[in-house]
Amino acid sequence: MAEKRDYYDVLGVDRNADKKTIKKAYRKLAMKYHPDVNKEEGAEDKFKELSEAYGVLSDDEKRARYDKYGHAGMDGFTQEDIFNNINFEDIFSGFGGSNGGFGSIFDLFGFGGGSNTQSGRGADIGQTVELTLEEVATGVSKDINVTHKKTCPKCNGSRAEPGSSVNTCSNCNGTGQVRQVQNTPLGQFATVSPCPQCKGEGQIIEHPCTECHGTGLKQTTNKLSINIPAGVETGTRLRVAGEGDDGIKGAPSGDLYVTIKVKKHDLFKRDGRNLYYELPISYVQACLGDKVDVPTIDGEVSLKIPAGTQSESTFKIKGEGIKDINWSGKGNLYVKVHVVVPKKLSDKQKDILKDFADVSGEEISHVKQGFFDKVRETLNN
Ligand SMILES: [Zn+2]
Ligand SMILES: [Zn+2]
Repeated sequence: MAEKRDYYDVLGVDRNADKKTIKKAYRKLAMKYHPDVNKEEGAEDKFKELSEAYGVLSDDEKRARYDKYGHAGMDGFTQEDIFNNINFEDIFSGFGGSNGGFGSIFDLFGFGGGSNTQSGRGADIGQTVELTLEEVATGVSKDINVTHKKTCPKCNGSRAEPGSSVNTCSNCNGTGQVRQVQNTPLGQFATVSPCPQCKGEGQIIEHPCTECHGTGLKQTTNKLSINIPAGVETGTRLRVAGEGDDGIKGAPSGDLYVTIKVKKHDLFKRDGRNLYYELPISYVQACLGDKVDVPTIDGEVSLKIPAGTQSESTFKIKGEGIKDINWSGKGNLYVKVHVVVPKKLSDKQKDILKDFADVSGEEISHVKQGFFDKVRETLNN
């Protein structure tokens, strides 16, 4: 089979197109390629391709998965799952009102053909894990308790009480499928969906398993050890294969998606692989220069403040950032200095500063002289 095309390309819409735009694009193309209208070879396949793209992009959850993982994100959804989302009556409503002669029934899946019924794959589940920035810097192995549905130990997933009888479903004659027809002005659309009576199983279980109430799955909590690589960020999702819910009847298990949340750090701000630290220094340190200890994520380093450093200057300390998840190197630590102006000065400090201003040829005309300053001045003269 040819490689699957990008759903956005199929519908000819922008990646951030809103729902209305997507619906409009689908409607226009679906009209054009509807097999009752378009008799060209390949029109039917084209219509199915369009419908699949629309089925995914019109569903928030499926669209988010597709945006993140591409077609791989749709593993576990059958074409039926996707098509059954689409409300064809809504899509084609307002199209000329009454049926303009497209009377045939169009099977989206080729009714009775070899299309899969429900795959039975287990559901994916999600969990959030909170990490400190220190844990992010080194990578960490975290033990988490995961609550997921696993194959029932009593019935071994068969869903029937051990020893009880299982009969063929009379509603679907054991096929597990029923056909539904939607009427639209463009004609009728038939979709195949799981039989409601046997829930797509094709069989009726006389005595459901008492342990799992006939679901074949039992909710259990397991402790899992998850290896989290260095450099993850809030929102990073890690997939732990097979740790979602178990599938039914031996179908594959779903996956566990661990979403990372990084706690705020007291000292550092982080942007990707770089860390930022704000360092207050005194006026004297700024003027004369100094050597200070600066904290890093795993210790401290010595930083030389050169004489004449201006407030808000930033110094780069190479390699003291965070490991990049996509890259072997580490980011940097950026230290921004703030020159702190003292709020209170002793008389002696004031005098020294005034002398300093004098020597610098600076006139501080707006400094109001206090009473004692005046007295001192008088005494000195
Ligand atoms: Zn059971
Ligand atoms: Zn049935």
